[in-house]
Amino acid sequence: MKIHLHSYDLPADVTFKGSVAIDTEAMGLKNHRDRLCLVQLSAGDEECHLVHFPEPRFDQAVNLKKALADKDLLKIFHYARFDVGILRHTFQLPVENIYCTKIASRFVRTYTNRHGLKDLCKELLGVDLSKQEQTSDWGSPVLSPEQLKYAATDVLHLHKLKQKLDILLAREKRQSLAQACFDFLPHRTHLDLTAGENFDIFSYQTDG
Ligand code: MN
Repeated sequence: MKIHLHSYDLPADVTFKGSVAIDTEAMGLKNHRDRLCLVQLSAGDEECHLVHFPEPRFDQAVNLKKALADKDLLKIFHYARFDVGILRHTFQLPVENIYCTKIASRFVRTYTNRHGLKDLCKELLGVDLSKQEQTSDWGSPVLSPEQLKYAATDVLHLHKLKQKLDILLAREKRQSLAQACFDFLPHRTHLDLTAGENFDIFSYQTDG
């Protein structure tokens, strides 16, 4: 794995075609409270680009925003709902054309409730992931080598997981339902940010 660390934006010569794996690290899990600190991207080629925001200066991320807004580019996430939400909130743009390995896993691995990235990598790829740095201080102005490695590893395997999960989605005939859920994610994250995560438009109860 090769790690490229950038500050505030991707270099202009780093572009993605077809698909890109994306993950984010933030100060916490509440998009209105916790600022974005790092965006990790990989083309699935063992190279990871980390865009670090030591300060919340998000207007400088011109090339990154271009990639996020590219509707022809498939963005592969694990639990896209969080990442798409914070990216939308931070950069004020809708992220469309999404694949979520967690949703795919829930549709095909119905024999388990373990759908974490670590669980998928272990079972589908035979890869052991460390989750040690998950709760570290991503707001630090200088990230440690361990943090960089952990962050990069989170996007390293998403293309391979998608390949495996696509085979299982086809086998179990859940492709179109999974795709419908991926397509709804931009709207779900919009609802998360405006109406709250517990707001369920499909619910019979209308007390929210
Ligand atoms: Mn991560």
